[in-house]
Amino acid sequence: MNALLAGGVLADPRRGILVPGDLAVAAGRISQATPGNQAASRAPAERVDVSGCLVMPGNVCAHHHLYSALARGMPGPADLPRTFPEILERVWWRLDRALDLETVKLSALVGAVEAARAGTTSLVDHHASPEAIDSSLDAVADGLDEAGMRAVVCYEVSDRHGEPRGLAGVQENARFIKTNRRALVRGMVGAHASFTIGRPTMESLVAVARDSATPIHIHLAEDECDERDSQERYGQRTAHRLADEGALEEGDLIAHGVHLDDSERARVRASGAWVAHNPRSNMNNGVGYAPVQDMGERVALGTDGIDGDMFAEARACYLKAREASGTTGPAFATERLATGADVAGALFGEPALGTLEVGAPADLMVLEYSSPTPVDADNLAGHFIFGLTAAAVRDVMVAGRWVVRDHKHLLVDEEELAARCRVSAPVLWERMANL
Ligand SMILES: [Zn+2]
Repeated sequence: MNALLAGGVLADPRRGILVPGDLAVAAGRISQATPGNQAASRAPAERVDVSGCLVMPGNVCAHHHLYSALARGMPGPADLPRTFPEILERVWWRLDRALDLETVKLSALVGAVEAARAGTTSLVDHHASPEAIDSSLDAVADGLDEAGMRAVVCYEVSDRHGEPRGLAGVQENARFIKTNRRALVRGMVGAHASFTIGRPTMESLVAVARDSATPIHIHLAEDECDERDSQERYGQRTAHRLADEGALEEGDLIAHGVHLDDSERARVRASGAWVAHNPRSNMNNGVGYAPVQDMGERVALGTDGIDGDMFAEARACYLKAREASGTTGPAFATERLATGADVAGALFGEPALGTLEVGAPADLMVLEYSSPTPVDADNLAGHFIFGLTAAAVRDVMVAGRWVVRDHKHLLVDEEELAARCRVSAPVLWERMANL
């Protein structure tokens, strides 16, 4: 589809650009990004008036759990969890066991639709459904595809239900990586966390990752329990265990890193792995504040399953950073958010993803934003954190295809989908309660 987004303001925070101009899209890519309106003369197939709007690269969520999309409003466990392992055992490890392939796909679809409506154009998912492992990544990918989302998926390998299921998870990652042909979906090798993965399963998942040249996506030191377990069972802290067993290399993606000590942070930085920082989830689980200021430049933002709203996550990132250090500015959060595009760009072989450069994939959002104060390239981060929210997202394009126009998802009937979810969610909750 060829399109011209005419009359807006082009805002590319990574390039320090904020200028009135038109943007043309052809064959899924940005074909022109021109100050003024010279691009209008190219007679595109579709002209979209974006006057009064900012045209920005779409947001990227670097760590999500779409399988939790039907958990909103779910009754809490009768026996209130007081520690992170209790939260996992009584809530999330019950929810994931209650999922079948149908609810896996439905969760992915509704989560992806809501993320797109919030301006998210790429997301990196981490999936678990221990009672329905085989083909589950196809169910997730089908939901994402139906919503038009660019995405990376993986299965969360874990021995928490025994080693055979750990190995079944490894096989699901391997199967998906080998068979997936979807243009906008890629696979990674997923792994839960050191404390639920024994040596044989770790060895197996590392072999699949390295043999297929596919990075690993794993939780690391989210809670102290991960560090305690690693020291007790392997005599070393978690990041060192992963690195020594070949599971922490350039391009791998670790989530959280809250309890990494100095030596582990140095090891993570030296490895060239990405880090997904999830401030809202960390607060929700009471696991602590991750020392992200000491993790280098390769720190991106994720929601860890809370939702797909990266405006909210970026604001939380900023506020937590301010609480920890009063000298942090809004650009710290917007730069972390932008790093998510580097994560997705590396996985898709698209280094210009997340910019408005000519030739970059046309993954864009159009934001309705009438500010009472001046907006320029220097203060855009301040406007992003204090002025913009997901409610400003009017239109969203992924790989040159409109998925949201005028605040409505174009590919999915949102009302009908919500109605289906309202039927399925209580059934899922009931299954959970009976486990
Ligand atoms: Zn997570």
